[in-house]
Amino acid sequence: MILYGNHTCTKCNSSNEWAYLVPQKLSNGNLVATTLPKHKIYPRKNRRLSETEYEMSYRCPKCDELNKFTYVSDTYL
Ligand SMILES: [Zn+2]
Repeated sequence: MILYGNHTCTKCNSSNEWAYLVPQKLSNGNLVATTLPKHKIYPRKNRRLSETEYEMSYRCPKCDELNKFTYVSDTYL
């Protein structure tokens, strides 16, 4: 599963499209090959904030600012 989103850089105001690949469980024994889209930003998951909120971060490709944002998801990331 891949999540997509958009975040505006807090420093240079550029609009950054991102994609996040949710790690798959190995238990179902049937790995689905997933191709990540190119030209996107891949944020990393920092920590879980609550049941449904996750803190993500990425570096802006334009100004190199470290951006953090909160992603809300019903499924466990
Ligand atoms: Zn920026």
